[in-house]
Amino acid sequence: MSRPGTTGRGEPSEPVDHHDPAPRIVVLDVGEVLIDETRVWQVWADLVGTSAATFAAVLGAAISQGQDHRSVLPLLAPNLAWEELADEHEERYGGFREDDLYADVRPCIAELTAAGFTVVVAGNQPAQRTAQLEALALGVDDVVTSAELGAEKPDPAFFAALQERIGVDDPADVLYVGDRVDNDVVASLGAGMQSCWLRRGPWGVLQELPDDVEPAIVLEGLGELPTLLTVWRDG
Ligand SMILES: [Mg+2]
Repeated sequence: MSRPGTTGRGEPSEPVDHHDPAPRIVVLDVGEVLIDETRVWQVWADLVGTSAATFAAVLGAAISQGQDHRSVLPLLAPNLAWEELADEHEERYGGFREDDLYADVRPCIAELTAAGFTVVVAGNQPAQRTAQLEALALGVDDVVTSAELGAEKPDPAFFAALQERIGVDDPADVLYVGDRVDNDVVASLGAGMQSCWLRRGPWGVLQELPDDVEPAIVLEGLGELPTLLTVWRDG
């Protein structure tokens, strides 16, 4: 497995040396880019009556097998109709809170905005998350969810609708920042956007890049992003 800071691809980026013009618009994914999802998983672990450690172990195993969180709940609670627990989960979770935000989010958005970049938030989320994100007053130019766009990543329709929402002719003007290789990196590159892989959260740590996939930027946190993009643009 290739890990950040060791060998191979997927290492954190050096200052960017690209021939392409720098993107003018930065789109930030939600889960594990803005929002630490620890509470999401803790509430599910409580609902199915298992420990946080067991839940995390099974989630990690599922991700390593190319599956996702939807395969975890039937494994941990085969006799529970977990789909029927979704409302209970939502009630206990209570939506996004200030302390769910990664600490580097607000400084990153402030620096990007001050440097003249347009910043948009867009991810796979239910419709009610838009108001919760707007209530956090992140200072971004737009917030939009898959529910509003009418398609979920990695469906190309998500990125087509996102491009239309942003109102940009050339998708290469957009840098999509996400934690998942499949949903974010491969899918945004496929849509003609530029890509930044943020290696945090369970997918960001466990997934690996296919040989023919090369995001413009690989990071372990958002702190360096404004400087990397500014140097890319102005260099
Ligand atoms: Mg995510």
